[in-house]
Amino acid sequence: MFDRNQLAAAIRYEGGVSRRLFLSYTASLAALPLLAQRTAAAERQVSFSANPFTLGVASGDPSARGVVLWTRLAPKPLDPDGGMPPEPVTVNWEIADDEAMTQIVRKGTRIATPQLGHSVHVDLRSGLEPDRWYFYRFHVGDAVSPVGRTRTLPNPDALPEKLKFAFASCQHYETGLYTAYEQMARDDLDLVCHLGDYIYEGPATQGKIRQHNSPEIKSLADYRKRHALYRSDPLLHGMHAKCPWFVTWDDHEFDNNCAGAISEEKDVDPVAFLERRANAYQAYYEAMPLRREQIPVGADLQLYRKASYGRLAELLVLDARQYRSDQPNGDKHSVINEEALNPQSTMLGAKQRGWLQSSLITSQATWNVLAQQVMMGMATIARSGLEGKSSMDQWPGYAYERMALMKFIQERQVPNPIVLTGDIHSNWANELRVDDRKQDEPVVATEFVGTSISSGGNGKQTPEYFLLLHGANPFVKYHSSERGYVRCTVTPESWTSDYVAVEDVTKPGGNVVTRMSFVVEAGKTGLNKV
Ligand code: FE
Ligand code: CA
Repeated sequence: MFDRNQLAAAIRYEGGVSRRLFLSYTASLAALPLLAQRTAAAERQVSFSANPFTLGVASGDPSARGVVLWTRLAPKPLDPDGGMPPEPVTVNWEIADDEAMTQIVRKGTRIATPQLGHSVHVDLRSGLEPDRWYFYRFHVGDAVSPVGRTRTLPNPDALPEKLKFAFASCQHYETGLYTAYEQMARDDLDLVCHLGDYIYEGPATQGKIRQHNSPEIKSLADYRKRHALYRSDPLLHGMHAKCPWFVTWDDHEFDNNCAGAISEEKDVDPVAFLERRANAYQAYYEAMPLRREQIPVGADLQLYRKASYGRLAELLVLDARQYRSDQPNGDKHSVINEEALNPQSTMLGAKQRGWLQSSLITSQATWNVLAQQVMMGMATIARSGLEGKSSMDQWPGYAYERMALMKFIQERQVPNPIVLTGDIHSNWANELRVDDRKQDEPVVATEFVGTSISSGGNGKQTPEYFLLLHGANPFVKYHSSERGYVRCTVTPESWTSDYVAVEDVTKPGGNVVTRMSFVVEAGKTGLNKV
């Protein structure tokens, strides 16, 4: 007969409950209190009829000493419950020096609970060495996950020679294949940043490359199933297993063009809209390798955060959706109007803006990187009927805050500010000023806008449109609407961005080319073609 201490020791046993303890422990169940019986139920989940690791493994938010290891148990990923029983399940994790998993450096146990969709987040804060690769995997019952590879960041006071990473956005499942991730997996990257539209909330539509698995998603089960549909793509979870990711969202993880608690058409009661947001945010947390600070609190989830890649780069991951005031002009294109210039209008919200400012003035990094959603360049559209107008869903709709941020960066002499952007399904390279309409003012920052992974389907190069765009907006130095992503190589001397294009996303194995590269030299402003 076990007493409570022996039971606790059995549950704490690293690598799982040993067979001897397990057997005698199940045999003594009847006499144990309720909590122990629940844990015992967890221990009984020792066999699965199907692979519980259909969603792969992932890691994220590395620090110099730790990283988040992630998986989600889902033998039937497209079922509302992922094919899991409504019970907690014990999962063992291990992290090793080698891919064969023979030199284990740390291991432990997590309980995957039905409340969090049987997701597993191992939030390691210490015990790892800085600036090196590790391998990890999970065990549940007799099932073993694939081995993932991850990497810690350099020590905060180190000056690394190089950072090589990619940023991506907008991966509509129905409009294209994830060939971009197949190429990215060959790029030997230290990390990936995802800037949002990781899933799309819309219904299944006919006549596409592949199909969504439900009508428009609203419930927690809907959002879970949609994340599972996307993540069951082997090219996507294959890239997650290659290196750690920093993720942030845009609108489609919840609802198109949402702004705070306000829906696109303002036709949804804010209380109902926030209930839906709680579902969307919880499913997002469950699906991503995020730290405990990102556990949703009601309809809120703090996603803005930062990481130091030594003194080489400070990565400031922003959330330009959750705290926004409503878009001006009913979200339609507009000239930069009074509403956009209203000091009360905000993309970031006062708290995040203050955090961003404080992060920028305390940064010791050579490169200061804003990983965020929507285009900061105050571009006007160069298509007939829209001349002189800008997207009010992007930073021009919040021009007061946008210009104040650039002025802050300029006045505080923040070194080498770089803005990374998704959302717009096209590639741009922009030289940002306090007011981009004033070409004679000095350049303050550089913006690299990365196109979509798949959203919009096959795109094209756009030299004629670029000329029109450049004519109306001389700060725009490149435009293309091909599919793909941006690969960045960062050293203490320079920042190089390669625009990687996938020529056909409708068939597997589409041709991939590096279409254009720009370099920014440290200590200087301005984009130079390579
Ligand atoms: Fe998108
Ligand atoms: Ca978007």
